[in-house]
Order: sequence, then structure tokens, then C-alpha cells
Amino acid sequence: MAHLQSVGISPTNDEPKYTWNEVSSGTVKALFHDRKFIETSDECKGATFGIILDKTSFYAESGGQVDDTGRLFNGDFVFEVSKCQTYGGYVVHFGTVSKGSIKVGHSVEVSVDYSRRSLIAPNHTTTHMLNFALFKVLGSGLDQMGSLVDAEKLRFDFSFNRALKIEELEKIQGLINEQISKELSVFVKLSPLEAALKICSLRAIFGEKYPDPVRVVCVGHPVEDMLADPKNDKWFNFSVEFCGGTHLSNTNQATLFSIISEESVASGVRRIIAFTGQAAQDSVDLGEEYISTLKALDEAESGDLASSIAALRRDLGLARAKIPVIQLKKIENMIDGLVKKSNKLAKDNSKANAGVAIEIALKTVGDAVASGKTFLVLDLDVGTDSSVMCLHVLLLTVCRRSRMLLPRYWKLMRRLQFFLLVALTTRSWPMLVYLLHCKARSLMPSHGFEHVWVR
Ligand SMILES: [Zn+2]
Repeated sequence: MAHLQSVGISPTNDEPKYTWNEVSSGTVKALFHDRKFIETSDECKGATFGIILDKTSFYAESGGQVDDTGRLFNGDFVFEVSKCQTYGGYVVHFGTVSKGSIKVGHSVEVSVDYSRRSLIAPNHTTTHMLNFALFKVLGSGLDQMGSLVDAEKLRFDFSFNRALKIEELEKIQGLINEQISKELSVFVKLSPLEAALKICSLRAIFGEKYPDPVRVVCVGHPVEDMLADPKNDKWFNFSVEFCGGTHLSNTNQATLFSIISEESVASGVRRIIAFTGQAAQDSVDLGEEYISTLKALDEAESGDLASSIAALRRDLGLARAKIPVIQLKKIENMIDGLVKKSNKLAKDNSKANAGVAIEIALKTVGDAVASGKTFLVLDLDVGTDSSVMCLHVLLLTVCRRSRMLLPRYWKLMRRLQFFLLVALTTRSWPMLVYLLHCKARSLMPSHGFEHVWVR
């Protein structure tokens, strides 16, 4: 870009970037392709190249905010801007020609995609509000470590040495949504750096070099008042930052704020990702869907609770990245509650089944003994609870629902059939175990096999 300076082209005037929803105009000062300056776009047909104007309303990527997209055009030329970056004060619009051609010296209309920018702005303004809310809730011991603001989300990194508690996240999110519903104006003022640095509640980034004059952005109070009385404690109720970004004019334009995740990204550095506007609403709606499904499962009096929970968990695996972290915690708690409920139901069921099974077994064995039978195989339904399954193996019964067990234990059963009788008639488990270990073979009946199936 030293070349531009040497031929007397001034850095781009990008002040119009703070004006919204207007098509501005500019003059092409230089065309840049493949590391060299060219005179006309015909020299790089079809390729991506850069256009430098004398002034532009495009926001070039900086301060964590992504760049604007849009188009530059005139009567016989259209250029789609896909990227906009600044080099030494020169704003370069990168993109491709979709119609005609352009030469240095031509005039163009400058049209930013404001619908896209209107998705970026709430994410940027609420990033400032998040910085403020973190300070309010967690205290002064944290610093901003970086941020990224685009049309989908905001990402904010800060120094903090532990995971945030869910109550803290609730407070932070609540504070921001409160500021949104209070419809606070966002004030912006260019101020001498030295004076602005005196504002007591300023959240400046340590080690960052700020321009002089600096652009001061305050959510909720005019900057002039702060500059006039910079040490007043009441400024601690407002977010104040130095920032060159394109912001909302009122917090209500953000409509809603939802924290999607809070995690560690490096030692002592936490990261919060959050949504605003429709994306925030969609995330909350998605969370509510899961909460209502879980409530319905809890209230349902029939159905297979365990498999419903398993299906919901599988489904949630894909959706969890889009659900606000506070709702997600609630969902996980509800799932835990339901798992406990399901386990208890299964246990109660198995206990009842086992009780019935033993009654049936005792009666059947009694009947078998009374009628002179020497041998018995019982098929009893004892449910699927693992502790009862164990009992079931000891009893050498075959659960009706798990017939596969039969071949597995058949050998054992053949050896122990006799002792089943002993155990059942005496209810003596230690004795059974003893017999299993010591006397199985010698006491095995050699004839008189009879199978009685109890269902
Ligand atoms: Zn900012």
C-alpha cells in the first residue's frame, strides 16, 4: 500500500460506515489483483480482486467484528463484495464482477448488505453488555481476552480461573435481557483519549493501543456526562468501552439474548458463546420443546419410560449445541430425575415379579413333590432388573423375556436341577450355594426327569 501513498492516494475515508441503510457513492482509486495494481478489471476477468475507493460505507473486519458484504455498482458495472479488509488505512473491497467492467477513476454506488449487518450489530452491542454483566456478577478480576462477532453469534473470551456456576450464568443472561427490555439508547462519542481513559467504569483491554481521539460507546447513558464527571460511581451501572464497531442505536433491537455455552479454551481463559434476536428465540424455543417433552414423559402413566429417555438423549445429542446452557442444565436435571424414576419402577416391578415367581415356584415344587415328581424346570417371569436376574440364575428359572439365557445356563441347570428342589422347599440359599459348589455331581438324579413349565 506504500505505492498508493507514493502516488498521492489518501487512505480511505470510511466514516460513512456508521450511517445505516443508505447507498453512498465513491470513486475508484485503485484496483488490486495478484499483488499488483491494475488499471481495469478486464485485466483479471472472472478473478477475485480488490477495489479501493476514496470513501466507503463498508465496515472492514476489525475489533472482532466481521466485515460487511454487499455490492459496488454503476450503470454498466456490478461488483459483488464478499470480503472487506483494511491495510494501513486503505479499505479494500474484495469480490468478483458479475456485470461489465470497471476502471480506475470511475464512480460507483456503495451498497452494504444492511440486512446482514443488522444481524451482526446486536451481537456486537450485547458483547459489550456481556462484558459489563460479567464484571457486575463476577467482580473486577476478569479481563477481556478477545471476541468474535458475526451474523450468527457472539463469542467472548475472558480471563477467569473456574467454570461459571449456572446461577451466575442465569444472573448474567438476566442482566442483559433486562437491559434489552429497558430499551436503553446506545451512545457513541469521539473523545480525546486521555479524557476518556478517566471514566471510572471504562472496560478497556489491557495493553491495547487506542487511537486518539477514541470512539467511546456507552449503553444507557450519554458519554458527555461521563466525560464531564468521570469518577462518578454511578457510571459503574453502564457498559463503557472504546470501540469502532457498528452498533445498535437501542438495546431493544437485540430483542433477546441467550447464552449457548460457557467453557474453558485455555488455562484461565473462559469462552461464552451467545445468540441474539431470532437466533436466541429459536434456541429458547428448542429448549422449551425438550422441557415439555420431558414433562409429558414424567406425567405419562404408561409406556416404556427407559426407551423414551434413551431416544430423547440420542436426539438431544445433536440439538444441545443450539440450546441455551441454562435450559440445557434444566433438561439434564429432568432427565436425571426421570432415569431415577425409571430405575425405581423397574426395580419395583422386578421385586413384585420375583415375589410372585417365588410364590409360584414354591407352590409348583410343593405340588411336584406331593405328586412324587423328582425333577422340575420352572419358567418364571422375574423382569429385567439385574439383582433379580441374579436371583433368577440361582433359582435356575428362565425369564420368559430372556430365553437366550437358556442355552447359556443349560449345562449348569442340568447339573443343578435336583438342588433347585432343595432350595425351593427349604428356602435355604446358603445351603443351595454350598450344594452348588460341593455336591452337585454326586447328588444329581440319574433318572425320573420331568419338566414343569410355569407361566
Ligand atoms: Zn466493540
